[in-house]
Amino acid sequence: MCADLTLSLRIEQEENQIELLIYLAGVFFFFLILYFVIKAAVRNGIVDAQIIKEEYKNANTSENHIKKITCPKCNEEHDIDFSKCPHCNFKYI
Ligand SMILES: [Zn+2]
Repeated sequence: MCADLTLSLRIEQEENQIELLIYLAGVFFFFLILYFVIKAAVRNGIVDAQIIKEEYKNANTSENHIKKITCPKCNEEHDIDFSKCPHCNFKYI
């Protein structure tokens, strides 16, 4: 009677241990998947940010090329929106 109780208790303990092990394995895999998802997201985010930066840089330089003009008097480069040269005050209009 007493031996039966101890045996059943021991079996229950082992079952609890297996349940705990399965639970811990589940938690471990959950965090493992979470880690890979975050890692991939961060990597893609960095790559995307670099592409945006590169595109912005290219757009900026090409825009600057279009918007810049060279003064015929002093040969200095400046923005096209000036009505006169900011370096030598040469009037365009
Ligand atoms: Zn000028």
